[in-house]
Amino acid sequence: MKQIYMDHSATTPVDPEVFNAMIPYYTDSYGNASSIHALGRIARRAVDEAREAVANLIGAGFKEIVFTSGGTEANNQAIISYLNSNLKAGRHIITSAVEHHAVLDTCHFMQKQGYELTILPVTPEGLVTPEALQSALRPDTALVSIMHANNEVGTIQPIKELAAIAHAGNAVFHTDAVQTVGKLAIDVKELGVDMLSASAHKLYGPKGIGCLYIRKGIRVGNYLHGGEQERGLRSGTENVPGIVGFGKACELAKYDLQKNQAKLIKLAQRLQEGILNSISNTCLTGHPVNRLPGSVSVCFEYVEGESILLMLDRYGILASSGSACTSGSLDPSHVLLALGLQHKIAHGSLRLTLGKENTDEDVNMVLEVLPGIIQNLRRMSPLCN
Ligand SMILES: *Cc1c(COP(=O)(O)O)cnc(C)c1O
Repeated sequence: MKQIYMDHSATTPVDPEVFNAMIPYYTDSYGNASSIHALGRIARRAVDEAREAVANLIGAGFKEIVFTSGGTEANNQAIISYLNSNLKAGRHIITSAVEHHAVLDTCHFMQKQGYELTILPVTPEGLVTPEALQSALRPDTALVSIMHANNEVGTIQPIKELAAIAHAGNAVFHTDAVQTVGKLAIDVKELGVDMLSASAHKLYGPKGIGCLYIRKGIRVGNYLHGGEQERGLRSGTENVPGIVGFGKACELAKYDLQKNQAKLIKLAQRLQEGILNSISNTCLTGHPVNRLPGSVSVCFEYVEGESILLMLDRYGILASSGSACTSGSLDPSHVLLALGLQHKIAHGSLRLTLGKENTDEDVNMVLEVLPGIIQNLRRMSPLCN
């Protein structure tokens, strides 16, 4: 059975061109980028070229990119290392209720270290409003961390406006852009952010590699201690093949950005309209317009997200849900709850995130089987009677 993968917000397949670019750094060119000899120099050059490609995709300078083990580490480094090396900046941090756990949990960790934490609410569409940020800012606010686009409901935040407000209040602004790098045209200078997190495996690169953009002039101390790699900010022998793959993925993303974006928007629109038109008691979650290209997220009343996933899986359709009933936990995701959705509605959440390899036929297939699946599940549902 053909698999139809519609879970690109969870991870993406490695592009064959990316994979091919990585292979030599596992085989013949296996040097340590810190070595002085010929193999070391080859690895160093590859790392430098990749850094240039990553920087180029987001409008950053070469020296403003620090490679990390992924988005989670980049978020940890941004928050923990910035605060630890700017103790005089203040003891208050601000984030939003819809952040990825890599940001939320890190903020809670800093709260345990004595920081005061404000978690901003969002509108029913998932937006952090400039007014909410404005009123939460305090003279001792050191850091504001708001994601660029949400991984569950796709809402894109007004980052430029939010960053400007943070700066007017003398706070530094970090954004988790793991979902948008490679999908939206990003220029860190234009956005006005001080730090930005990205991860290769969300843009057809390998897992376990990402980066933190740190604007020149922002002081962020060592995150890992040991060697002097990444200018001392992130010690540890560089993951050369991973870095090369990340660089290649950025190069490809930049080249195809407009084309892929147009395709994703078109496919997602047809999928979304098809679902909303053919299945009753269904609502869109997230923002209707300011959405991540390719992201369709809905809630079906009277059904349970996990059951939908299992039924779709039988047809080879691989998707995701914001509610998990595993391990007896009946709580829908913190994101759906932050949008103000009632538990009984949030339980029926389905997220279909499209990627560049999805086709019109894939969308047709989902539209063909999904109404029947929902109908059957509703027929069996005690909630429906
Ligand atoms: C996937 C994701 C992360 C985590 O990135 P990893 O590289 O998997 O650690 C962080 N934030 C968002 C918004 C994500 O979608």
